[in-house]
Amino acid sequence: MINIVLFGKPGVGKGTQAEFLKIQYQLIHISTGDVFRYNIKNATDLGKLAQSFMDKGDLVPDSVTINMLEAEVEKNNQAKGFIFDGFPRTTAQAEALDTFLSKNKMEVTATIALEASDDELVNRLLKRGETSGRTDDQDESKIRNRFEEYNQKTAPLRGFYSEQNKFHSVNGIGSIDEITARLTSIIDQF
Ligand code: AMP
Repeated sequence: MINIVLFGKPGVGKGTQAEFLKIQYQLIHISTGDVFRYNIKNATDLGKLAQSFMDKGDLVPDSVTINMLEAEVEKNNQAKGFIFDGFPRTTAQAEALDTFLSKNKMEVTATIALEASDDELVNRLLKRGETSGRTDDQDESKIRNRFEEYNQKTAPLRGFYSEQNKFHSVNGIGSIDEITARLTSIIDQF
């Protein structure tokens, strides 16, 4: 079983790459951002709760996000493995993921960060916002707030996974195929 955490700032290409990797390795792709957006679209209680945080570019509280993620994993109990995209984003989430996976006789195989500069990412996100309809992609100040959330709350996870010898990073600039090849060369080692 392979469980990959795709790590990196908003807009770096985690979702795009996950689409390729899930086919190649027959994994279930769980994007917490996509699950929140689905709930907002369907006006569920979870969606109503998450919306105010997402609209500002703030992280949704850990308790809500962790319960949601665990439910998504449990829905797929026959899976060969998972690609976690956009989760964990805080140390509490990473600890909860380790505990939850080990209870289910699983573990994170590797965390792979995609890297690109903030200016490159702002341009990508504003461009994506023209077609995605995502309000958090259409406003530079919200995008910068998402980076700030990342720097404060998510960046410490590099240390968390490095201590477990599970942290890898690849250049996130290049063609989609080039970046997929960089990722698969790491995943194929497991
Ligand atoms: P994303 O699609 O990954 O860019 O996520 C969009 C938004 O969903 C984020 O800005 C957060 O508001 C929320 N979100 C997604 N994943 C998480 C998470 N793991 N923890 C907290 N908030 C999250």
